[in-house]
Amino acid sequence: MITIATKTKRITLKLSEEESSRMFDTLVSSLLELSKTEPPKTELPKMQESEENEATAPPDKRKKYTGFLHIKCPDCGNTVSFCSKTGVSGVSCEKCGCKEPFKEPLKQVWVSCECGNKSKYLTNRTEEMFDINCINCGTPVAVKYNEKKGMYETIK
Ligand SMILES: [Zn+2]
Ligand SMILES: [Zn+2]
Repeated sequence: MITIATKTKRITLKLSEEESSRMFDTLVSSLLELSKTEPPKTELPKMQESEENEATAPPDKRKKYTGFLHIKCPDCGNTVSFCSKTGVSGVSCEKCGCKEPFKEPLKQVWVSCECGNKSKYLTNRTEEMFDINCINCGTPVAVKYNEKKGMYETIK
């Protein structure tokens, strides 16, 4: 005879001693199997959650750049210089409406104008040389990429 009982349920099977013993072993092993397979079932939603987090997290985790920025639109080539206090993580072109995150970390640009004004920008431009207008007098200042320093410097 074998009896399975919970607080509210109870079943008694009238079996021979041998059958009861076999049934007991089968039940116990399947119960153990059940408890073995239980953890992955509860872990699965967690994994899905983390995947979701990864999918939604990057926009927030993405590095934001503040200060003077010199950004070139990858679509239409329009360049803008502005100062951001809230932080910028990508191109947002007013001309063509292009919106995309920066593909590479922005590089520093040191602009040293003849008027005596010195300013530091961050740029997404990749050309070896380009002009950047002085924020003080508006004169275009030529800058060149210094590979050793990994930044743009004013050509003297
Ligand atoms: Zn554009
Ligand atoms: Zn100047």
